[in-house]
Amino acid sequence: KKALASIEEHSHLNAFTQVFAEQALARAAELEKELAAGNDPGPLTGVIMAIKDNINIAGERTTCASKILETFVSPFDATVIQRLRDAGAIFIGKTNMDEFAMGSSSENSHFGAVKNPLNPSYVAGGSSGGSAVAVAIGACDAALGSETGGSIRQPASFTGLVGVKPTYGRVSRYGLVAYASSLDQIGVFARNVRDAALILKTMAGRDAHDSTTADVAVPEYEQALEKSIKGLKIGLPNQYFADGLDPEIQEGILKISDQLARQGATVDNFDLPLSRFSIATYYIIATAEASSNLARYDGVRYGYRAKDAEDLNEMYARTRSEGFGQEVKRRILLGTYVLSSGYYDAYYKKAMQVRRLIKDELNAAFKNFDVIITPTTPTTAFKLGEKIDDPLTMYLMDVYTVTANLAGICAINVPAGRHSNGLPFGLQVMAPAFQEERLFQLSASIE
Ligand code: GLN
Repeated sequence: KKALASIEEHSHLNAFTQVFAEQALARAAELEKELAAGNDPGPLTGVIMAIKDNINIAGERTTCASKILETFVSPFDATVIQRLRDAGAIFIGKTNMDEFAMGSSSENSHFGAVKNPLNPSYVAGGSSGGSAVAVAIGACDAALGSETGGSIRQPASFTGLVGVKPTYGRVSRYGLVAYASSLDQIGVFARNVRDAALILKTMAGRDAHDSTTADVAVPEYEQALEKSIKGLKIGLPNQYFADGLDPEIQEGILKISDQLARQGATVDNFDLPLSRFSIATYYIIATAEASSNLARYDGVRYGYRAKDAEDLNEMYARTRSEGFGQEVKRRILLGTYVLSSGYYDAYYKKAMQVRRLIKDELNAAFKNFDVIITPTTPTTAFKLGEKIDDPLTMYLMDVYTVTANLAGICAINVPAGRHSNGLPFGLQVMAPAFQEERLFQLSASIE
């Protein structure tokens, strides 16, 4: 009831696309009954969760904040939903986002922009902005978001939360609406590292419905929280502390790295020269995959269909023209272009080659370091409307986050302080694939 009241009170922030008030109360009552009868409904009993509106819950709408899916009702549960429900979680609603997870501010939504709870004239970040806000206002204990290039870590940084992007293949994507399949991964927003660790543990692991999930055992992540960081080798990449980084954020991150050194970790600078190609590489690969994934919205099988078309081609064209927003169209065009014959070798193939080099460079760095720490974002949250007409500046917001997705490794945002403008900023920890424990170990000594 408290969570529902908070949603009501903060409705001006536009964090939710749907609220499951009755279902959530009924579920809570059901769990209470189980407990009273002496049964154990699971390790997450009564944990309230909000779910990004690109993750399917059976019988509920999955809109992806798009007109084209506005009325689409999912016939099945995503694997993460099924696992969380089996563990006793309560789902309180679906959260607002950038349409099809394309954006860095949650302004590209058919349902209007999400606003930052710390100052509603600022963005909450994106694309999982609604999930971040839901946790920040106490509408839930934790929320699910999705990451393609920073969509959990960046809004977590802008709202002062913990946000984890697991290793590619750690969490099943079955039931997550695809944006760029080789980059997408479901992750968690929480108010502290322990909550994030417990929820990730519940969702993670091999799933027969997603052949890209890895058959790697899921550790008891919460045990990592107790581990000392003495002797841990931390790397600071010079390229992440260069032009464009807000000086106060830089100072804040370096102060924390000094504290970590005092706790017994070793901290050293090093170079990641190829990171300067990350944004260009990411926006070629992400849009190429998006143009293919979004071909399925043709008015025949899902959601919206244009009225009164004369023939099939007109129906396709009008459905997509009317159903998709500006940014999604821009990405489909860009992606189609880089995949077209004549440009494929120059753009898509080249981007794939550079992606491999970026991954190799990062893995080489992990031979010398257990973890890498960086700022999560170059600035704090920006004003609503400030970057919406300038896609390139918006894309640059992802400069520190996309590398982890390109390399398939895991990364986390931990709150790192307050800027003199009153807004929070975060520190990013990156670790090698399937070493989420290191993220939790280090983050726990920072928060
Ligand atoms: N901002 C990036 C993009 O627009 C990342 C989005 C995401 O991680 N879903 O593609």
